[in-house]
Amino acid sequence: MKLHIERTGSVMFSGASCVGILILLICYGTINGLPDPYRVAGLFEAEHESQERAFKYAMEKMNLRNVVGPNKLLIYHVEQITPHDSFEASKEICKQIKEGIAAVFGPITNIPRAHVQSICNAFEIPHLQAQWDPRDPRDYFSISVYPHYSTLSTAYSDLIRYWEWKRFTVIYEDNEGLIRLQEVLKATEGKDVQVTVRKLNPLTNSYVNMFKDIKETGENHIVVDCDVKKVKDVLHEALKVNMVSEYYHYLFITLDLGLVDLEDYKYGGANITAMRLIDPKRRQVMDVMSDWLLEEARSGKSPLMGQREIQTEIALMYDAVHLFTKGLSELAQAQVVTTEPLNCNKRQTWTNGNSLLNYMKSMDFEGLSGRLRFENGKRTDFELDILELSTSGLQKVGTWNPKMKVNITKTYQEKKKEIKESLKNQTLRVVTVVEAPYAVYSTEPGGPKFEGFVIDLLDLIAHKLGFNYTVHVAPDGKYGAKMDDKGNWNGMVGELIGNKDGPRADLAAAGMTITYEREKVVDFTKPFLNLGITILYRKPKKAPPELFSFLSPLSIDVWVYMMAAYLCVSFLLFVIARFSPYEWCNAHPCNVDSDIVENQFSILNSLWFTIGSLMQQGCEISPRAVSTRLVSTIWWFFTLIMISSYTANLAAFLTVERMESAIGSAQDLAEQTKIKYGTLNSGSTKAFFQGSDIPLYKRMWSFMNSEEPSVFVNSTEEAIQRVKSGDYAYMGESSSIDYAVQRNCELMSVGGLLDSKGYGIATPRDSPYTEIISNEIIHFHENQQIQKLYTKWWVEKSGGKCLVDDKKKDASALGITNVGGVFVVLVGGLCLGFVIAICEFIWKARKNASEDRQSICSEMAEEFRFAVKCFGSSKKSCKRKPSKDITDNGLQFMPLTRIPTDGPVGPRELYA
Ligand code: ASP
Repeated sequence: MKLHIERTGSVMFSGASCVGILILLICYGTINGLPDPYRVAGLFEAEHESQERAFKYAMEKMNLRNVVGPNKLLIYHVEQITPHDSFEASKEICKQIKEGIAAVFGPITNIPRAHVQSICNAFEIPHLQAQWDPRDPRDYFSISVYPHYSTLSTAYSDLIRYWEWKRFTVIYEDNEGLIRLQEVLKATEGKDVQVTVRKLNPLTNSYVNMFKDIKETGENHIVVDCDVKKVKDVLHEALKVNMVSEYYHYLFITLDLGLVDLEDYKYGGANITAMRLIDPKRRQVMDVMSDWLLEEARSGKSPLMGQREIQTEIALMYDAVHLFTKGLSELAQAQVVTTEPLNCNKRQTWTNGNSLLNYMKSMDFEGLSGRLRFENGKRTDFELDILELSTSGLQKVGTWNPKMKVNITKTYQEKKKEIKESLKNQTLRVVTVVEAPYAVYSTEPGGPKFEGFVIDLLDLIAHKLGFNYTVHVAPDGKYGAKMDDKGNWNGMVGELIGNKDGPRADLAAAGMTITYEREKVVDFTKPFLNLGITILYRKPKKAPPELFSFLSPLSIDVWVYMMAAYLCVSFLLFVIARFSPYEWCNAHPCNVDSDIVENQFSILNSLWFTIGSLMQQGCEISPRAVSTRLVSTIWWFFTLIMISSYTANLAAFLTVERMESAIGSAQDLAEQTKIKYGTLNSGSTKAFFQGSDIPLYKRMWSFMNSEEPSVFVNSTEEAIQRVKSGDYAYMGESSSIDYAVQRNCELMSVGGLLDSKGYGIATPRDSPYTEIISNEIIHFHENQQIQKLYTKWWVEKSGGKCLVDDKKKDASALGITNVGGVFVVLVGGLCLGFVIAICEFIWKARKNASEDRQSICSEMAEEFRFAVKCFGSSKKSCKRKPSKDITDNGLQFMPLTRIPTDGPVGPRELYA
């Protein structure tokens, strides 16, 4: 019975006819002892019909659920008012006040709402709001279930701060939008953040020009504050200028983005983010939605039908009614609450109004919009879901609340999976620079247009991630350098930055160095090759082998010291031997009575002895005294070490070809001006010298910069040709220089690395692909695929040629040029010996001639005849005083004159 009455009441009391029915119901209730009714007024504009319906639905539900309490009935009176008509609104509210009301809901439009709020304030009748209002509710007798505008604004600024946007554009529709974004705009104050604010032109529906302007500035972070109904138009206009791609990020300041059909933008790759208050998947929300839809369907009117989610303000209207009924119920339990008819023309107030408002402000319960609680009458403690558009629609990726701030719950794996999904079957545009071995035109007819190390690497990545790609060469063939302070870049970097039509390439794959300056305008993957700057120079000409190269193992100083040592030791030996009594021996050992003693270490013998041991030959002289033996031992030790060292060094000197190189380091280059040196134009190496603070590199840069004609080259190929043609050193990257050196045997790399850096694949700023490509690069490093590619392009493809040649040269036999000097010494020695022999011959012939009283010529002729006879190696000696012909060491000189006596003579005869 009770249910029937409530239901009848709720259905019948909507609309203008409700007053009569109300009287009937009151009479009926009074007669039958039925529940106490609480009258509530609702003022809604026709355009906010859904709010009105939500209000009615919520009222009915609260009655059904007996939220206010047993024997209590909510009776609502809804009046439709003209939008923005505050006069009508105030007239209507006065009419309701006269009947006695416990609360007022609506209106929605600003001016009438302000009027109604003032009246409610005057009569102390609680006014409940469910829409965004930037006025502080404390000033009014009002309570709003809508999140407090300033806290909401903070949520957006927190999100922007979380993303670390350094530059963004704010697009707003009306002045209220600026209030909504006040925290966002404030957050940038005093920070290094650049914000551009633009207004949507209300006179035109076309925002293309505005988006074109934004694109030209290179802006890709956009905050849009507009009515949810305009979101699609805005995105549509942005799409016209290709601004709904993976390189753009939109943050929509609406809590109802879920109501917009974003099907067309799901696959565009653009980052579209928004926040929401109502989670349509929450049990409570789903239950209310399905129940309401059922009722709507039954009544035949369905403002909600066809909508995928419940609008925030509608759900909040439900929560507002819920809040009111809960507050009223609590108050009714504490005291008797009755509505009183008041007169707008009198200064009266509702006695229970203040208590009811305070009860409502102290409520804490779970509504459709989450936990409802108030601080100082404001709803500042609420939680928002952060949504992101993905291929499967808007997805919750995290939450925001005033304590935890931004909390992204979407895992990295989920994000990665999504990006991978979006990459599948896409065709990415790749820009490159033609340089061996990274990317060169393919020589295989009918095959792909390009081949090379990075092309192979791209193939691996594309195969793994399932995308296709097209390759084009940077129009100017450059890597990329900053052209001016306006942010214009050339080369591949310029292609990634693009122009008003957006980036002209999605990836830049070449031997492109990761640099700080480039990182500011584009993104880089993890490096796939590590390298550093080094010098490419022509191999020096081989030094012509020296005739006396056998002298090279020891320096001139050592030769001089050796000579000095030889003379000193010989002399010392001579002196010591003279002092040592053991070195004086019987000259004729067979004659023990002989008192003639002699010393074998004459000056000449000493010299002969020491040279004999130095030449590792020895001689018949042997020291007898301890002192001379000691000196000899030391000398032998000395010669042992010297000869071993000489032999070892000689081998090295004769086998290793010595090069005469003019430069061995960057320092050498800087210290001269004859050999010019330069780098690649518009590349990182040039930028390295240009921006260096190190005095050496600064000096090199000023030399390079001032040199005419220019020392900068446009390609590595040009650099190689220039180095080959002489007096030019190219400073480039070790990977490219290694490649050139292995194929051009006349070139070499000089010195160590001047720095250390890496090559990476570049992507436009904020590209979603950077990270997943980085992951693949790391993976290919780990499974040695990159190493294999390196071997393929640097070594296998006609590399290592020069290394083989060099090895061959190392093993080759010594030529006469290497050892010619030894022959010269030999010939010289022989000649000298021959000359001395002639001198000895003449000297002795002259002596014999005077003794034999012959002419010197006949003496010489006789001796000559004997000498040229090839047989007979003995002849008769002259009988002479032995003392003259016996040497100091007891040996006898071979007389040159024939001794006409019989047979050969022994020493004994000679000495006799
Ligand atoms: N690889 C370098 C670059 O990315 C070229 C160079 O300067 O040597 O600019």
